[in-house]
Amino acid sequence: MADIDTFVQAEADALVAELSEWCAIPSVSSDPEHAADVRRSAEHLAGLMEAAGLDTDILSSDGGQPAVYAEWLGAGAEAPTITIYGHHDVQPADPLEAWTTPPFEPTVRDGCLHARGASDDKGQVHFQVAAIRHLLAADGRLPVNVKFFVEGEEESGSPTIDAFLGEHGDRLACDLVCVSDTGMVAEDVPSLVTAMRGLIYLQVDLRTAPADLHSGSFGGVAPNAVAELVALLAGLKDDAGRIAIDGWYDDVVPLTDEERANFAALPFDPEQLKAVTGVGDLPGEAGFSPLERMSGRPTADINGIWGGFTGVGSKTIIPAEAHAKVSFRLVADQDPARLEPLFERWVRERAPDHVEVSVSSFGGVKPSMTPLDHPGNRAAARAVARAFGKEPLFYREGGSGPERALSDALGAACVYIGVMLPEDRIHAPNERLLLANYYRGVRAAAYAFEEFAKPEVATALRDPAG
Ligand SMILES: [Zn+2]
Repeated sequence: MADIDTFVQAEADALVAELSEWCAIPSVSSDPEHAADVRRSAEHLAGLMEAAGLDTDILSSDGGQPAVYAEWLGAGAEAPTITIYGHHDVQPADPLEAWTTPPFEPTVRDGCLHARGASDDKGQVHFQVAAIRHLLAADGRLPVNVKFFVEGEEESGSPTIDAFLGEHGDRLACDLVCVSDTGMVAEDVPSLVTAMRGLIYLQVDLRTAPADLHSGSFGGVAPNAVAELVALLAGLKDDAGRIAIDGWYDDVVPLTDEERANFAALPFDPEQLKAVTGVGDLPGEAGFSPLERMSGRPTADINGIWGGFTGVGSKTIIPAEAHAKVSFRLVADQDPARLEPLFERWVRERAPDHVEVSVSSFGGVKPSMTPLDHPGNRAAARAVARAFGKEPLFYREGGSGPERALSDALGAACVYIGVMLPEDRIHAPNERLLLANYYRGVRAAAYAFEEFAKPEVATALRDPAG
């Protein structure tokens, strides 16, 4: 394979200049005022991809923001097809006054490119495109077939991704999805995400009377809606910190010994986490470390609770209604469609007969997980080891994204090659991309194509059932 190290060294400044031009486009998908910028960002990326030797198309569905599709399919039918996923939209940049240099005037400082989107996610899409450009220029071919799906609305929660995958899923068909939108736990700890958590978000509405009642006249006999709701939700977890809903853990895939060894090897200081968050303790499910609980285990949270009198001064009422927002992070293979009814049943069973209660859902996201010993994960880990000069660790991401939707629609597992760092301040003022990590990303991408093409990996990816 063409020497990727020489390329990165020779082109280091040119690559950053090219990325900077793209980062100067304020593609804020959540702000309608930037709709033209999101389109301009898509067109700009398509131009970079065309120049690299990819065929491109700008696609959308259901009135969604423009996504960039690209392909190079010259590796032949025996080679696996990899679909690279990322996004070209960015978070809003405010508060602008908190930026040292303006968010859309990319600036190199202290070995980092400072710009909104530098790390999340333009830099991470760009290192893939840069690797491909070099390989196609030097070798005239890639070791694998490659497609791109670069979303334009990820920072808005991917509202049309299901419609998009329904309409364009056939074009994105692949043997492996390579997500280029995650990070590493530290600069000197190369690491690969293997899972994302799912989510369900619900509201509980509880009523005890048609209207609030006078606490002097009826106190002592009338049920209190706020007290009923608090008592009900107080039972959400048992004394061991486990969610106390029957059947909640039935589909949870246990952490493997190898995974737990990886978690244990990650640098983690509970005292530092306490200092960063300002919390006094890290309570949670017994038998699992804080890192395991933060990404590898299910969680339940009461996000908000309201009812009764909360105004200035006093009002002696017995509230007639109370409400709560409750959300759960899920892990593989928990299914929102199975768990939402379990929660509703739990609420109804615990609510006394004199209470009227209803549960409504704001929708769910399925969890995604690729086992450590999946051939794609092993190949990606070899590529990262070559680029970073150190064996990577595997870890999980605690948040939720569209990865499972991609996996389900394309019938392929996800692997995650990402170089973002916790210090990169994504979604915050002064977002940055550590250039040393970006360059390692270019190399990791090139090595990954080579690793995915190795005959034993290619065979396993193309025919997962064996
Ligand atoms: Zn992102």
